[in-house]
Amino acid sequence: MDLTEISNRIRSAEASAGRADGSVTLVAVSKKQPDERVAQVLEDGHRVFGENRVQEAQAKWPGFHDRFGRSALHLIGPLQSNKARDAMELFDVIQVLDRPKLARTIARLAQDLGQCPSLFIQVNTGAEDQKAGIAPGETDSFVRECRSLDLPVDGLMCIPPVYEEPALHFALLAKLAERNGLPNLSMGMSADFEAAIALGATHVRIGSALFGDRPTG
Ligand SMILES: *Cc1c(COP(=O)(O)O)cnc(C)c1O
Repeated sequence: MDLTEISNRIRSAEASAGRADGSVTLVAVSKKQPDERVAQVLEDGHRVFGENRVQEAQAKWPGFHDRFGRSALHLIGPLQSNKARDAMELFDVIQVLDRPKLARTIARLAQDLGQCPSLFIQVNTGAEDQKAGIAPGETDSFVRECRSLDLPVDGLMCIPPVYEEPALHFALLAKLAERNGLPNLSMGMSADFEAAIALGATHVRIGSALFGDRPTG
């Protein structure tokens, strides 16, 4: 699907949910995609992208920024503390704040750099061992901890378990965000973004439906 088709589907999902036109931001997930596919979406006018690796983003985005002007970049993959400074310099939004140590590192670097990207806390809604994220039951206290560090926490993000009904996870994330006064919800990918919009997503992360399947290997 091209940008117009995806955007139309997002707009109609907003309308069906009784939500304002334009209230959902498409984060076009360009990880691992060939440069010409990304350039096409830039040419079509889109300027919000998601990457899951700091190094890969550092390699390709300066060139795209030069050619097309600045895009807003969201980090959606795990962040090691030793990459935090690089990530804070490149990304506008870090969606994967998932542990206290990373929060403290980002707080310290924010002092150094005099700036900090917008931060979303990743919640492990399915309590999966192999998945990053704060446990749902620890979210309230982690939000408080981040606020006490003066971090600009603006939202929550989740990646539901593959074999479960995603709507249950979206509803849980929405409840946690509301309870903590957080305005943004990053949830929904290629296969389930309309369900996520129905449950309040403000950011949908769409890769393969927009760019085509990611090349393997
Ligand atoms: C790759 C990725 C996506 C995009 O997945 P698609 O199914 O290709 O839309 C969304 N969110 C995260 C965290 C990802 O790593």
